[in-house]
Amino acid sequence: MTSRANGLETSHNGLALHLENVVKTYEMGTEQVHALSGVSLDIGQNEYVAIMGPSGSGKSTLMNMIGCLDVPTSGSYSLEGEPVDDMDDDQLADIRNRKIGFIFQTFNLIPRSNVFHNVVLPLIYGGVGKTERTRLAEEAIEKVGLTSRMHHKPSELSGGQRQRVAIARALVFSPSIILADEPTGNLDSKTGSEIMAILDKLHAGGHTIILVTHEDDIADHAERIIFLRDGLIESDVRKHDQHGQSVSHSGRPASNL
Ligand code: ADP
Ligand code: MG
Repeated sequence: MTSRANGLETSHNGLALHLENVVKTYEMGTEQVHALSGVSLDIGQNEYVAIMGPSGSGKSTLMNMIGCLDVPTSGSYSLEGEPVDDMDDDQLADIRNRKIGFIFQTFNLIPRSNVFHNVVLPLIYGGVGKTERTRLAEEAIEKVGLTSRMHHKPSELSGGQRQRVAIARALVFSPSIILADEPTGNLDSKTGSEIMAILDKLHAGGHTIILVTHEDDIADHAERIIFLRDGLIESDVRKHDQHGQSVSHSGRPASNL
């Protein structure tokens, strides 16, 4: 299957990622912490998935595996058909840059740099020429509605605006997959809704969205909810399985950004 939306081009029989019996064990001195105890999971292209579960259940560890920030202790993982397990650090960084956009609860912006510089930085590291990277950064900033704040520093922005900068930064390489670990965790509910409207719009534009949240009304934006407990998938529910038809919010028109 080949699909094209918003400049995203994908062709992997519809599968964004495939995890098979993924185990992640951390060594803590003499103790072993089993953060993931055997997770098998397929996520299709353009799915909208929420990962929930109690603190310590392995949500962030799973996101780190999916985002190629870390590799499993055992088990296997393929990202858009590419096996990730045997990749070295350079290869992991490369596949991460090409395919994954990260959004974090704490925004992770550079405080001294303005909006434009925060967004353009990954492109500078990626060796993209000046004209092209300026165009790409400005385009991403426009997508999140911050063109008029281009030269402001994070301290001059609201929490919601900061998270929008982080989203713009995540978008500069047009990654097919957006990973968001508690993206609204530091925001009030109105601002959180604005951020979710952006994620909804990215989903409508063809991106695969995987987010971690503790909040039911945030998870409600997704079409599928995976619940982790003690490093295992406890439940995995698609909304249309429950009701015989899709009732997800993604069917509603995304608000203008
Ligand atoms: P969640 O995001 O659901 O709160 P995490 O994935 O952060 O859970 O953590 C799962 C388990 O793994 C916890 O017991 C945590 O303490 C442990 N853990 C996570 N990261 C590390 C690490 N870098 N070193 C040691 N233990 C870790
Ligand atoms: Mg976490």
